[in-house]
Amino acid sequence: MKPLPLPALDARTTYATCISKTRPAKAKARLKELEDQVAAAAADYEKAAAAAALHTLGHLENQPDGDDENATSNKALTNCYTSRMARKGSAGRSLYNQLLQAAKDLCPLCGHGYANTLDHQLPKSSYPLLATAPANLVPACLTCNHAKGENAPASAEEQTLHPYFDDITDHVWLAARLTEPPEPGVSFYVTPHPDWTRTLTARVQRHFATFKLGKLYAAQVGTELGALNDYLRDKPYKAIVDELQHRAASYGTRNSWQAALYRALAASPWYVSSGYLNEWDT
Ligand SMILES: [Zn+2]
Repeated sequence: MKPLPLPALDARTTYATCISKTRPAKAKARLKELEDQVAAAAADYEKAAAAAALHTLGHLENQPDGDDENATSNKALTNCYTSRMARKGSAGRSLYNQLLQAAKDLCPLCGHGYANTLDHQLPKSSYPLLATAPANLVPACLTCNHAKGENAPASAEEQTLHPYFDDITDHVWLAARLTEPPEPGVSFYVTPHPDWTRTLTARVQRHFATFKLGKLYAAQVGTELGALNDYLRDKPYKAIVDELQHRAASYGTRNSWQAALYRALAASPWYVSSGYLNEWDT
């Protein structure tokens, strides 16, 4: 997970920009009437997100219409995002682009995919008032965006990590495990830091499982190790350990799958002595 700075965009201004070109004037006036509620909801959201308490925002669920079957305001608000912010050429599209570009192409949720969408941390279908709230819009790759779907956390532990509010990069938390023959392979898992609270540990595990990071990272391993085979062949044991340790320290960030992989390889006598000769790329 890669942290990102909290967007400097103000929720009220963002909403006002999105609705600015709405026609007819009557429809625009109806959206304008919701502006105070949108701004208040965004303020509540930011406070809750900073306290890792998004599950406490039940009072915003399905608001402003509640369970009203017609739910015209709810629909108008979600449409504000879809048609007036995400749609190319719409009034809010430049703000959409601004939020997306902060990720510099890399999906902060998996740290691997190409960030080409915005994901609603709390889904717009259940939280229409937060549909255009900048702090609720997180750059994501398509896979991560789909993986999270319309889920909203029911407890503190169920919250996936929020790139604008959570930063666990100070700690090494991603590790890889090597299995030896007859079924050589690599798997990835979370190593909770002793300073973490139980809630944070649960959240990191939740994040790891929701975005299927273990599977995603393991899928990259074959190509990486296949390319190493020839490079390491016939090198002395110590030189191989040094090379792997060097890669662990320099490849990506400490919690990149590559860094975790090379730490595990360097620590495996089996891999260093002969394991690298396996047909890893098949
Ligand atoms: Zn992703």
